[in-house]
Amino acid sequence: MVVISAMGKTTNALEAIMKSFWNGDGKTNQLIDDLNKFHQQIIAELFGDNKAAAEAEVNRIFEELKSRCAQAHGDNYNFEYDQIISLGEVISTKIVAAFLVSQNFKTAWMDARKVIRTTDRWREANIDWEKTEELVSKQINDAFNSGTQSVITQGFIGHTPEGLTTTLGREGSDFTAAILAYCLNAEDVTIWKDVPGMLNADPKYFDNTVLLEKISFREAIELAYFGASVIHPKTIQPLKKKNIPLHVKSFIDPHAKGSVIQASIDFDANIPSFIFKMNQVLISLTPKDFSFVVEENLEEIFSYLNKESIRIHLMQNSAVSFSFCVDGDKVDLKKIFDHFTGQYFVKYNEGLELVTIRHYDQPTIERVTVDKKIYLEQKSRHTARIVMKDVSVDTNN
Ligand code: ASP
Ligand code: MG
Repeated sequence: MVVISAMGKTTNALEAIMKSFWNGDGKTNQLIDDLNKFHQQIIAELFGDNKAAAEAEVNRIFEELKSRCAQAHGDNYNFEYDQIISLGEVISTKIVAAFLVSQNFKTAWMDARKVIRTTDRWREANIDWEKTEELVSKQINDAFNSGTQSVITQGFIGHTPEGLTTTLGREGSDFTAAILAYCLNAEDVTIWKDVPGMLNADPKYFDNTVLLEKISFREAIELAYFGASVIHPKTIQPLKKKNIPLHVKSFIDPHAKGSVIQASIDFDANIPSFIFKMNQVLISLTPKDFSFVVEENLEEIFSYLNKESIRIHLMQNSAVSFSFCVDGDKVDLKKIFDHFTGQYFVKYNEGLELVTIRHYDQPTIERVTVDKKIYLEQKSRHTARIVMKDVSVDTNN
């Protein structure tokens, strides 16, 4: 069973098409032509002189998209979004399936919009597990029973009971693979990526990254929670339930070992992992009358933050203050300041980094805090978290 995502930057390009269609800025057709051209180039490279059928099929999908965009849109953005954004996966699977057939593989193309059953929560649809299990076993068994060697389907997309297309949330293709593995009681799942596997840090912020060869489902969920852009917890959960191992491997070096996420926790502590969040703001609130920060204040603070959808990355309280760290790119600092300033002295520091170290030891802490001024440090048995500022460039601190 093969699950395929959209090609290259297609999903982003479709989002641009969607916006243009919605705003009626007159650029929609040009954007559609550009995206078609991108796919036609790939088709030409793959099929050479035998490209006519795939070329026509993909042209037809883009023509349909154009005529859709030539009409007025409805009033539900998220619904229209799903109808358009889902096409990236439809196109990529059509191309790959046709190519495999041309190479004499017995391959069947399966429409995930007839198999993955969801609610109509557009853009973030929830899975109807029971119905999906029923549809999967029927359609996939039918395909394999009729001599197919591989079934190709789309990640990221599904359908409502009314047959309308839904999407599962950006980067949702891995989740589709996990859903199908769960329904089919698969032996294992492999996600093919352009990295060697799961690394212990983002190479963008860290030199000498190390491959995590074997970690537990639980550890993978923890890493994702702290912000590692590894595998989404949504993907891990169904696999964990049925104890199906998840391999992460590189399509650049397919024979290399890669990583495996599985049940055993025995290897989790072998290598420290580092997760950086940049541009953090540390806000601290002190009641103006210097009264203690107690549950009552906390309740009020949390309910405001929850109402404003502000995510706390780390928090700490003392007798007379409550401090919390948030994403500088995602919050309106002035608004937070204005809200709390009646009752609290509000202080904040901007431009900070939050590093989380799983399975830390003293040398790793020293390594990440070189040239950093530390604002706050928290340690539990397995996890150290430090809010700090880079002072190697900014000498005023
Ligand atoms: N194509 C979708 C996206 O870019 C799903 C995925 O890539 O997993 O978000
Ligand atoms: Mg993708």
